[in-house]
Amino acid sequence: MSIRDQLKKREEERSTPKGNGINEGLPEGVTRYVRLGSELKDGRQFVVLADPDNWFFYFCHEDGDYATRATFFKKHTCLHSPKKVGANLDSFKKPSGGACISCKAKAKRKLYFMVPVFDLEYQTWRVLDIKEFHAMNLIGDYDKLEKAAKKFNKEYALVGDVITITKTSDGKSYSLESGDAEVPEAAAQFLGFDIPYEELANFREVDDIIELLNEADPDHIDKSVLGESAKSPTPAPTDSQPIDISDEELPF
Ligand SMILES: [Zn+2]
Repeated sequence: MSIRDQLKKREEERSTPKGNGINEGLPEGVTRYVRLGSELKDGRQFVVLADPDNWFFYFCHEDGDYATRATFFKKHTCLHSPKKVGANLDSFKKPSGGACISCKAKAKRKLYFMVPVFDLEYQTWRVLDIKEFHAMNLIGDYDKLEKAAKKFNKEYALVGDVITITKTSDGKSYSLESGDAEVPEAAAQFLGFDIPYEELANFREVDDIIELLNEADPDHIDKSVLGESAKSPTPAPTDSQPIDISDEELPF
């Protein structure tokens, strides 16, 4: 393979999540990630597959200016993140320069959650990948709903039941309500299913991250931690590079 082809392949691999087969079993164009903006616009019913205490959380480095739609560096998963469910948030909440070069470079870091659900339409598991702010809203609704139902049945749990998740009318977050569909039989097999969160979170190789940081806006990260590689000629800072901040990328 020529060096050109090899470089092209590397670039492709970099921009494709590692779990290449992760969308298998879903119709063309549908991903394991629920497209929050478009798919939840009018509400969508799911079976909840895990209690909030068992939602996978991880961190992303991202920074940009919502008003001008500028991105200061490409969003990427923080290497100082759990790879499995059940981690202790306290152990990860502070950036760690020893574990993650982006933390060392003081790149902005945000907490994300993956909510595992069974999709009634596609009859398989999917995840809602949401920022902390949205997760807090969903957990608030979740607890309210479960508490109300427990008045009638102490044993009731929302896990395994149908809920509806809808984009709120102001478009800024999501709400969780009880769903009216019957729980499909196929959902049960996914309760306790070992969802490949690590693949879904797409942890990058360190050299890819260094490359991203080299291309970052120097006003928003500390490039001195990149050492020699930072001094090599790099393209102009990408501070005004236009990106498409869809409604799935609200700055919360
Ligand atoms: Zn980090």
